[in-house]
Amino acid sequence: MSYIKGLRCRECGREYPKEPLYVCEYCFGPLEVDYDYEGIKKVLTKELIASREKNLWRYRELLPVDNEPVVGLQSGFTPLIKAENLSRELGVKQLYIKDDSVCHPTLSFKDRVVSVALTKAREFGFNIVACASTGNLANSVSAQAARANLKCFVFIPENLELGKIIASLIYAPQVIAIEGNYDEVNRLCTEIANKYKWAFVNINIRPYYAEGSKTYAYEIVEQLGWRAPQNIIVPVAGGSLISKIWKGLHELLKLGFINEVKTKMYAAQAKGCNPVVSAIKENREIIKPVKPETIAKSLAIGNPADGYYAFKTVMDSGGWAEDVTDEEIVEGIKLLARTEGIFTETAGGVTVAVTKKLIEQGRIKKDELTVISITGNGLKTQEAISSRLGKLIKIKPNLSSFENVVNKNGSLR
Ligand SMILES: *Cc1c(COP(=O)(O)O)cnc(C)c1O
Ligand SMILES: [Zn+2]
Repeated sequence: MSYIKGLRCRECGREYPKEPLYVCEYCFGPLEVDYDYEGIKKVLTKELIASREKNLWRYRELLPVDNEPVVGLQSGFTPLIKAENLSRELGVKQLYIKDDSVCHPTLSFKDRVVSVALTKAREFGFNIVACASTGNLANSVSAQAARANLKCFVFIPENLELGKIIASLIYAPQVIAIEGNYDEVNRLCTEIANKYKWAFVNINIRPYYAEGSKTYAYEIVEQLGWRAPQNIIVPVAGGSLISKIWKGLHELLKLGFINEVKTKMYAAQAKGCNPVVSAIKENREIIKPVKPETIAKSLAIGNPADGYYAFKTVMDSGGWAEDVTDEEIVEGIKLLARTEGIFTETAGGVTVAVTKKLIEQGRIKKDELTVISITGNGLKTQEAISSRLGKLIKIKPNLSSFENVVNKNGSLR
């Protein structure tokens, strides 16, 4: 049973059939999936959701698929962790981590969007799936295409971290590394998507793909006992995740699962690639493209497709935005690891460091329930921190060699 009515232009409201379309032919606005919420309201209850398996398909009526899902059957439902140590360290009381660094199967939140996109690609009858990626998306498309027996091409900027490259190559897709940054990769992929009949998950089936991100919000609310937090800090690349979390919260309101949404949304970016943050700080809705220069490569999109909607989300919610230096990103990664035992990638370092800043500025208050989005895994971006860690202590395999070290180094006792 499907509750998709069709696609609708976010700008002029024109309606389109549920096909692999993504841009309005009249005003060039992006298309978005439209649902029959009255129909959903009649069947979907909190109890029904709770009775289902712990993966993102437990909210399937709110996802844009017509048939039974065939991809990503174990994705989503990642831990929401009360971060007691980090809260204490930052001088607040209720910080939570939504930890997609352990999302199945490729350790980032992109597994959510790809689960939906590939299920949809199958429904549309595509045999080849593809994407333009800053790394994590390529990993997830590669892995999930392998499982779904789909042919796969992934396009990445050539300067990605080794961990991200290997985590695509291992699944044996065609990996195309482009001499250029993500924005150039994306431009080329748009041309390819127009010419070849492939399912580019974040281009021609983007309206369906993007809906997968809503499950991040549904889970936060369900895991908090059906309430929306007061603050959510979200890393921004193309701007899709932050806008879809906001959409997801309002859908839960529409369905009566929560009574209010007073959540403030905060956009987090690196100083070396901050087109959305600078727009928010200057209160200008025109996003000025930048040339990315940061260790947070997963967020290095200088010309974000949904930048305007990310801007609008933050403004409508009464939130704010901050950016941090590469130095602060490294400190953020180390802080989360040291306090909560979670090893996140550079994007997570961005959100943690931005959260710290927002608390110091007094924008996030001591008693407020705040969720920090951790969207990727640190094992994939080791070069960002490898030279910034404590030293190994090497010894001979005997007791005296060990005691020599213990005695010399008082801090070992
Ligand atoms: C892609 C990505 C994001 C941001 O996603 P957008 O929806 O493009 O804003 C955040 N964190 C990580 C780790 C990502 O890979
Ligand atoms: Zn339009």
